[in-house]
Amino acid sequence: METFGHLIGGERQSGDGGATTPVFDPATGERTGQVAGGGRKEVDAAVRAAVAALPDWAGMSVLRRARVMFRLKELLEEHRDELAALITAQHGKTLDDARGEVTRGIEVVEFACGVPQLLKGEFNHNVGTGVDALSFRQPVGVCAGITPFNFPVMVPLWMAPMALATGNAFILKPSERDPGPAMRLVGLMHEAGVPEGVVHLVNGGKEAVDAILEHPDIAAVSFVGSTAIADYIYTTGTAHGKRVQALGGAKNHMVVMPDADLDMAVDALMGAGYGSAGERCMAVSVAVPVGDKVADALIERLAPKVRGLKIGPGSEPGVEMGPLVTGAHRDKVKGYVDLGVEEGAELVVDGRDFKMQGYEGGFFIGGCLFDRVTPEMRIYKEEIFGPVLSVVRRPDYESALRIVNDHEYGNGVAIFTRDGDAARSFANDVKVGMVGVNVPIPVPMAFHSFGGWKRSLFGDHHMHGMEGVRFYTKQKAVTTRWPTGIKAGAEFVMPTMG
Ligand code: NAD
Repeated sequence: METFGHLIGGERQSGDGGATTPVFDPATGERTGQVAGGGRKEVDAAVRAAVAALPDWAGMSVLRRARVMFRLKELLEEHRDELAALITAQHGKTLDDARGEVTRGIEVVEFACGVPQLLKGEFNHNVGTGVDALSFRQPVGVCAGITPFNFPVMVPLWMAPMALATGNAFILKPSERDPGPAMRLVGLMHEAGVPEGVVHLVNGGKEAVDAILEHPDIAAVSFVGSTAIADYIYTTGTAHGKRVQALGGAKNHMVVMPDADLDMAVDALMGAGYGSAGERCMAVSVAVPVGDKVADALIERLAPKVRGLKIGPGSEPGVEMGPLVTGAHRDKVKGYVDLGVEEGAELVVDGRDFKMQGYEGGFFIGGCLFDRVTPEMRIYKEEIFGPVLSVVRRPDYESALRIVNDHEYGNGVAIFTRDGDAARSFANDVKVGMVGVNVPIPVPMAFHSFGGWKRSLFGDHHMHGMEGVRFYTKQKAVTTRWPTGIKAGAEFVMPTMG
């Protein structure tokens, strides 16, 4: 059984035999390893090494840091299948889905390869006689990233390449549920040429996180996870003087207008609702058909497809949906389905009793489909994070838009329609950070930025793209004057250049 310790200064550390958390193979339910619970000691050691390594890394030519990113991109491509297999072994998602995750992460590294261009400052010659003005961005210092279980490679890659390419040191604290892929990832960063003092991995839970939030030498914290913890990270981190971006949970709606291509909408709901067993922050968990006719047709086409989902271990070819990440999470999802029935929603497809032959100990659940869910129900208000799709019927476009805007989360949303006017109004009026028009999971590309609104994001910066550059750097403005041709004499009035 493998023990996942820490990776500090390039050395694997066992974690001193302290408290550990079990790691499972979700397909079999077997315990395959354990992860060490790091704390203040490990975070201190990583920060000390990072502070020592930072001046050389930040002072290095930006071209050389870009070359390290190019090498990292190559290594990630070479190891794409290996990383995907590690993801499937601890997360449970299908191999194809895991490969897709790694690819989306590599795209951020590709964006970071352009860091010389991204860090180009601004310059004005002769803002006054013989006076020039320039502004440029410098790294903030030691940064930390705290990441969730559901994208154990992609989410660390939303953060680390941007932080490193812009000249910072980075400490990753991955999820304790699937630490393996992140350990490998940080190893590959070292192999690519990121100095061992510049990137570290500390495993653990709350203790490690609190040590990060309170450490005086950590300048910035990036977080992705559930909303309650995101709120805590933002409040505590900013109270300790840090720059914080904390991305939280979601309840993503898909509005289906009467003129939508229904087959396209049904396929979109299947992929976005049940892909990765619903364990995506951009999963569609609420379908909002406009009008009963659309709702009836949608349910009629969805139900057989949900019943027919190909469920199995993520490593088996042809599987559409793997198990949930842990037994505890599977039980939580089942509990929500029980609750929905109690609340009066109509359970059209019940996957609670699904058993996978040959994998009876695995954390499987079948796809579930609710009709006639109402905005007052807890299964509508709360994030379930499983393969449970709720249909909330609305009589018209206005009330569909209203429920999306009234929801506490605002991560992603989609509208399916052929009406450009409706789509444009929707994109303009909806209070959500990422909007898809006939696109169910509108995850922005690496060169745009990812982030929600309302209680799906705490802080001012979204992740990667130019927002990532801004988060990991601070701006400096320099005004220069040289003595040639300048008359001497003190100026006692507010200087103006005109
Ligand atoms: P989580 O909030 O349980 O854990 C996220 C991180 O916080 C982990 O590293 C964990 O160790 C740490 N953590 C957990 N409890 C803590 C505590 N009490 N104090 C301090 N740190 C703590 O999230 P998860 O279950 O790993 O991931 C799923 C959640 O992440 C879902 O809510 C999902 O919507 C969200 N998510 C959001 C996005 C986004 O971009 N908005 C992306 C992916 C996942």
